[in-house]
Amino acid sequence: MKPPGLRLKLTLAYSVILTVLLALSCVAAYYLFESQLEAEITDELADRVEALRGYTHFKNDVPTLIFKENDPEVALFVRTAARYHQIYSLTTGELVSQSTEMQLLGLGLVPNEVRTASQESGPVDIETDDGRLRFLNDRVVSPSGQEYLVQVGISMEPVHFALRRFVRISLILVPFGLVLAATAGWLLTGSALRPVRRIIHAAHEIEVSNLAQRLPLTGSGDELDNLATTFNEVFARLEKAFGELRQLTGSIAHELRTPIAALRGEAEIAMLHAQSVGELKDVLASQLEEFDKLARMIDQLLTLARSEAGEVRFERRSFDISNAIGEVVDTFSLLASARRISLDSEPGKDLIATVDPQWLERVLVNVLDNAIKYTPPGGHVSIRGTLEPDAVRIEVQDSGPGISAEALPHIFERFYRADPSRNKEVEGVGLGLSFAKWIVEQHGGTIHAVSEVNRGTCFTIRFPRSG
Ligand code: ADP
Repeated sequence: MKPPGLRLKLTLAYSVILTVLLALSCVAAYYLFESQLEAEITDELADRVEALRGYTHFKNDVPTLIFKENDPEVALFVRTAARYHQIYSLTTGELVSQSTEMQLLGLGLVPNEVRTASQESGPVDIETDDGRLRFLNDRVVSPSGQEYLVQVGISMEPVHFALRRFVRISLILVPFGLVLAATAGWLLTGSALRPVRRIIHAAHEIEVSNLAQRLPLTGSGDELDNLATTFNEVFARLEKAFGELRQLTGSIAHELRTPIAALRGEAEIAMLHAQSVGELKDVLASQLEEFDKLARMIDQLLTLARSEAGEVRFERRSFDISNAIGEVVDTFSLLASARRISLDSEPGKDLIATVDPQWLERVLVNVLDNAIKYTPPGGHVSIRGTLEPDAVRIEVQDSGPGISAEALPHIFERFYRADPSRNKEVEGVGLGLSFAKWIVEQHGGTIHAVSEVNRGTCFTIRFPRSG
């Protein structure tokens, strides 16, 4: 079964919370309303007791209700107020007068009850066949000093009636309100989640072949817009990574095809035409060079994969960079002289920095290799190590073709090769400088290039000094 969607869950949660809140408010309102009505009816009862006292006169020392019977207003008031009314002598406990309702309901008191009732000052509720009645006791004293208990009652039916009505109205209005609120909640969550549906729809359409597509933004700057922006940033990174991967695959295929074709051609010719072991050895020697190139490239690709996977570990220690300069110069001196390039070096002294010597050498090899391979025969290359207050500086200067101002900002990007037509002659996949930069930065250093077309290029590398 399909799990319930967010819209249904939100609407349900919202409706449940609303039901609980409404139920609690109704219960609270019910009790407030009840106590308010009861307080009002008690006040009304007290008013009646007060008023009836005014109409109580003594005839032969016996309290009697006397009022103008021909005044309809007064007559109505006194009859209503005295509907539940009885008077007892407090001396004897005997009944003096009693309204018909009290008589019919059998609410008369025995002498003991008269005495107890005379002690009660607050209202007393009694359940009767006429419903609940509330009584207040009053005392009157005759001119001769006789005390009487006057009991006045009021029906609580209007309170019950009002409360029953409140419950009935609540039972109709609350479910109606809930249905209305749940429908509104359903519609609101629907419209709030509409951008999510749009994002889902758009995300479904994005595939490797159209990674340039982006999720729609509403421009509202809300959470969903932020989510879409974040996804778009992820897609942009993926697009870039896929682009690089495509470029890498293309470059690898291209770079592998040329040496493999050359190797195959040489092997074919050797098989058909080589007459002696000497000739075969010559072919093998030239093939060894091609194998070296291939091995270098594969090595670069492996390092790239390892660095991407975060597997590369640096073993940093205090190291004199002038030694590394000396070593790379030794390595490249043969190649330089074979290409008729003069290679000068000033390795400097005590260029101590905390580096991983093997990775440092890789940086120097990449930069010096570029200088030599891009500089035409007859040119100069020099490498110099110097000490700065905070850093060890290495400069590699060549008199090569230089790098155009448009290409210069990109040369440290992966797989970037400036001026492809010129670069056709020179082997490379555009990884050397990006590696060099990555390694230098992992050591807390910097690398940058200054170049002038047809005059040459100077790479400056800085590593922080030890201590
Ligand atoms: P590649 O394998 O192409 O040499 P790099 O990352 O080492 O890759 O260099 C990137 C690009 O920078 C090269 O393709 C080249 O166009 C340019 N470049 C690097 N060093 C030099 C240099 N010393 N002189 C001229 N161009 C250079």
